[in-house]
Formats: sequence, structure tokens, C-alpha cells
Amino acid sequence: MSGFGGPEVLDLTEVAVPDVGPHEVLVEVEAVGVNRIDLATMRREGLAHGVQLGHVPGIDPAGTVVEVGDSVIDRRVGERVVVRPVIACGTCVWCTDGHDDSCDSLAYVGVHRPGGFAEFVAVPSDNAHPIPEALTFAEAAAFSHSFPVALQMLRERAQVGEGDTVLVTGAAGAVGVAAVQMAKHLGARVIAAAGSSVRAERCLGFGADLAIDYGSRPRFAEEVRDFAPTGISACIETTGAPHLWEQVVSTMGKRGQIVVCGAHVGGQVALDLFWLFRTRVSITGSAASTRAAFVNALATFSEQGMIAPVHCVVPLAEFHRAFDLLGNRDRVGKVVLGMVRTSA
Ligand SMILES: [Zn+2]
Repeated sequence: MSGFGGPEVLDLTEVAVPDVGPHEVLVEVEAVGVNRIDLATMRREGLAHGVQLGHVPGIDPAGTVVEVGDSVIDRRVGERVVVRPVIACGTCVWCTDGHDDSCDSLAYVGVHRPGGFAEFVAVPSDNAHPIPEALTFAEAAAFSHSFPVALQMLRERAQVGEGDTVLVTGAAGAVGVAAVQMAKHLGARVIAAAGSSVRAERCLGFGADLAIDYGSRPRFAEEVRDFAPTGISACIETTGAPHLWEQVVSTMGKRGQIVVCGAHVGGQVALDLFWLFRTRVSITGSAASTRAAFVNALATFSEQGMIAPVHCVVPLAEFHRAFDLLGNRDRVGKVVLGMVRTSA
């Protein structure tokens, strides 16, 4: 980063290979996701307020271990790994209680330390997880920040299980497609709501029982009510769009759970407190995921043959185009930056 602002502050430049600490591994990066958190990092927003010039973003790289620190016993050179973005302290009250997603000192690879928009990245060995054989590096990067987050929302926050009906908004986004598949795996009926017909159609392929294109049918609550007459048990809200929020609210069933993990389409919504106490609905926020959710999600993903869709792989040098693609109306899943190495 040569400044603070939009993707134009990123420059492709030569940097030193990172030093590897005793408890770290050095990963030769093959693929890394393009995430909205990278945009926040470049603008120094939220968690990224301390980011300095020269920083390398990229939270979820996947690649091959090429060096291990002196104290590392759980990883070896040559292993294919995907990086879990979240680093928790392990000692605060949240961490010791199993809620390391809420750690007081929560840090992200690519935000609080150099990330994966580079040929090499050094990460704590505990954050480097072996990739199942069937998975490509691009798919592993697409998995890393979306499936654990989705599982965390569905299971820990909303306690979704057999017999529930789950509405996923922004269902064709990376977290959305993960939530659709994980909710099906947990035994729920799933309604996928996405912003175009192409996106909605794709969600049926990920197992959704009903797909709604709210780009052409912005008032979709009635359609949801026809499908689930007693209302929705849980909504995974990934957009923060005020016009969607109105529809979500009017589809919720008694004691339903709305779990919010995104606000990139506005983030300011109206809330009728009379409605809230009458329906006994709960609204909770969720960000990041626990280490346990990551491990669990990776195992489930692999066992169930889930799909981490990659919208496209863009060479690292074309990172500006990759960020443009984030806003593509028909994007399904993750935009991934791929490493193109010209010398052996
Ligand atoms: Zn902690």
C-alpha cells in the first residue's frame, strides 16, 4: 500500500521475503481471496485503523509451506495449506471461554500483519491448515473466510437444526453460498435470496429449496410466506441493505433469529421495537469465526463434497480488475487472485 483509499493505493512492487518466527511457517502463495475487508484495510477503517504504509493486504492465502520455524512441530515443508485469517490471543476471557471469534485482541492476517497479496506470507503455524487433496488452491482460498463464518452464524448464533427454515440474503456471495450449503447440511429448508436471476439460479445448484431474485422482485416477503407460512426460523443477513431488511423483518417467524454479518449495502435500517417484542425475534451480529468452527467447517466441507465457488481467478498483477469484479452484478462466489510465476 502506497497510500490510504481505494484499490488505486495498491502497487505491485518488490518486497523482502518475510522473516519466519519460531512458531511460524512461510507459505509460498498460490491463491488468495479478494475480500471486502481488504477494502476496509486500504481505507484504514474499523480493525484496520493502525495499518501503515507499505502494508500487504490479503487475509486468506493458500499455498505451499516452504519453511517452518524452529519450534514448529505440526507443519512440514511441502504441505499444501490454507491460512485461517483470524489470530486470537488464547488468554482473554473470551478465548478461554471458547469464544475466540470475540477475542479482545483479535487480529487478522492481512490486516494486523502482512498478508497474502504477495509471493510469500509468514503466518503462525496454528493458522496454516492442510488442504484436502481434492481442493485446488483457489477453492481453498474461497473456503477460508466464508464457510467457517457461515457455520458460526448458523450453529452458534442461530442454533439452526432439523426442521428449521433458513433465509439467506446475498445468497450468491461467498458467505451466502456457504450458508446455503451448511444450512442444508444441518437439516434446514433453505430459501436463497440473491440480486439477479443468474445468481438466484446458481443457488438452486448449491441445494437451495427456493431461490428468489430480489433484483426483479424486490418485495419478496409474500413469496417466502407462501413457502413457509409460519415464517422463517433464521435469516443469515449478509448485505445490510435497508430494502432487504424490510422484507426480512416481515418474513420472520415467532422467536426467529436474524444473524447479521455484513453491512456493505447501506447498514442503516429501521427497527420497530413493537414488532421486536411481539415476535420475540432475536437480532445478533457475527464476525470472524472460532478456530473450532474453522476446523469443523473444513472437515464438513470435505466430507460433504461442498462447493466453494470461484467466480474467477485473476493474476495478481491485475488486482485492480479483481476489485472491480467484486461489484459484478452476476458474481457468484469469490474473486481470487492467482500467482503467475514466470521463472521456475
Ligand atoms: Zn483472546
